[in-house]
Amino acid sequence: MTSPKKKLIAGNWKMNGSLAANEALVQALRAGVGQSGCDVAVCVPSPYLAQVQSLVAGSPIALGAQDVSAHAQGAYTGEQSAAMLKDFGVRYAIVGHSERRQYHGESDDAVAAKAGAALGAGITPIVCVGETLAEREAGHTAEVVRRQLAAVIHANGHCITEIVVAYEPVWAIGTGKTATPEEAQAVHAVLRAQLHHAAGDGAARIRILYGGSMNAANAASLLAQPDVDGGLIGGASLKAPDFLQIIAAAA
Ligand code: PEP
Repeated sequence: MTSPKKKLIAGNWKMNGSLAANEALVQALRAGVGQSGCDVAVCVPSPYLAQVQSLVAGSPIALGAQDVSAHAQGAYTGEQSAAMLKDFGVRYAIVGHSERRQYHGESDDAVAAKAGAALGAGITPIVCVGETLAEREAGHTAEVVRRQLAAVIHANGHCITEIVVAYEPVWAIGTGKTATPEEAQAVHAVLRAQLHHAAGDGAARIRILYGGSMNAANAASLLAQPDVDGGLIGGASLKAPDFLQIIAAAA
């Protein structure tokens, strides 16, 4: 199944940056991004949302967050609600990144609730799914990603075409090991079929990003796969020339 929509290249800065570094990075991106043929976003640490909101104003670069609370308000120390993110012009929120699942014990249901909170505020959740190395070696990749996505579909079936999915094999994140284009496409096809089952023809509109050591050298071959609709980029999104080359490969 092919997907004619615009690709999305989203940077995940993780817990990196400073006022000075962010300004230099976004200025370089603004100067280089031009009238890109793809959508571009940067998902920044929460303390810098206001700064980056003004740095990207008037540019084609959209603002993203790296997490969102499942709750609307109240006694949830340290969390940020979707409405708060919306106040800062946030368009995308990553949910269920493997680092959140691993270090913060986020369950599939918690991720589904976060996706729902984002959708309710008009923010597009970038729902991360992916298997560990042990799960891949045991032949469980398809089962794991289907289970993770099923929770999100189950809780948000009525508006599932509004999400973005990111396939991020855990063994490829920050390791320099990338899925081959064929390995990525095989899992993306599994996810597309699952989305098709849930949303019918609307599934073709849903963007499925690949993430995991995508860089300037390997982006073009990954992005050429029929069901790879963009990338979620960690390390390489912190270097403007590399991120711009990935954007050019997607345009
Ligand atoms: C990520 O953290 O979402 C990611 C894909 O990281 P990296 O590109 O550094 O592997």
